[in-house]
Amino acid sequence: MKLDVVTIFPEYLQPLRAALLGRAAERGLIEIGVHDLRNWTYDVHRAVDDAPYGGGPGMVMKPQVWGEALDAVCTERSRLVVPTPAGRPFTQAVAREYAEQEHLVFACGRYEGIDQRVFDDAARRMPVDEVSIGDYVLVGGEAAVLVMVEAVVRLLPGVLGNPVSAEQDSFSDGLLEGPSFTRPEVWRDLTVPDVLRSGNHAHIERWRRDQALERTFRRRPDLLTLLADELDDHDRAVL
Ligand code: SAM
Repeated sequence: MKLDVVTIFPEYLQPLRAALLGRAAERGLIEIGVHDLRNWTYDVHRAVDDAPYGGGPGMVMKPQVWGEALDAVCTERSRLVVPTPAGRPFTQAVAREYAEQEHLVFACGRYEGIDQRVFDDAARRMPVDEVSIGDYVLVGGEAAVLVMVEAVVRLLPGVLGNPVSAEQDSFSDGLLEGPSFTRPEVWRDLTVPDVLRSGNHAHIERWRRDQALERTFRRRPDLLTLLADELDDHDRAVL
């Protein structure tokens, strides 16, 4: 998979070269390009923003600069991802969808965002997604891109040491994952649940499912409503 990020702060994307993502790049599983938007400016100030039409506070990123940048970075096989608090929510399902793509291009906004015509124009040539990572407002799209890239790349074949862990994570079956424990058996008077030391895999699996159901019910009941048709009688009894 190829990932390109266009930003006015390329250094902000350094974590893309670290840890799991860095190793995925070294092993050739992903190819990452980070591009300085100011490379497509021609004035002495290298300006990327201008005052908003209609007035109001803040500045808007200029369409000419973004247009040229995206013309240079995108191909007919790209999908353009635009982080914005006004986008559709980024979820595990969207991460899975992106993990199937050949080329993702991320356009990092700053200030009040990017002139809307940049996306309307790009949408004439490629799929364009305006995506939000949550109901809060960040200063720029870079942190949102780091979040999305990490969620997508860990789903790619060969990236995680044990691919089963991605299959068992929260949201994979629509539920939050239950609690985890490791050694020692007793720590500060707190003990590991007996069932996890029983060696009975059927009981352990049932206990984990019950914990996931209870945790989801307490913390994210909205997720359970989406799953209503998939719960069996035992699941319903737990709730
Ligand atoms: N005026 C915009 C609004 O109210 O929707 C907010 C702009 S925000 C200050 C600047 C940039 O941060 C956005 O263009 C976007 O790239 C990024 N951003 C902020 N919050 C975000 C979120 N929740 N999800 C994704 N990107 C976000």
